Amino acid sequence: MDDLVPRLEGLLFPSVAGVRVLSVDVDVESVNVQVECSAVGHSCPGCGGWSTQLHSSYLRFPVDGPVGGRRVRLSLRVRHFVCGNPSFGRRTFAEQIEGLTRRHGR
Ligand SMILES: [Zn+2]
Repeated sequence: MDDLVPRLEGLLFPSVAGVRVLSVDVDVESVNVQVECSAVGHSCPGCGGWSTQLHSSYLRFPVDGPVGGRRVRLSLRVRHFVCGNPSFGRRTFAEQIEGLTRRHGR
């Protein structure tokens, strides 16, 4: 299992920087992969400021479907940060993970 995780990271996220695999559960019917962003903070899309003040987080499932007869589900923990810029009134924003959270963009 210790060898599997870095290999999966390379397979699943060749173009997604800063994402780490937390756990991989494989059984006969399904594959569950938990990932999260490894960066300590995120820049605010409103003002561009850097924030490390975590507000909350939730799970998204950007990949959930059958692959080769097994159900493959990717659990991505998306964090919300508090913007430290007082002129924005301490609003929160969700981190964007290139290649995973912008699937519906364009
Ligand atoms: Zn901001």
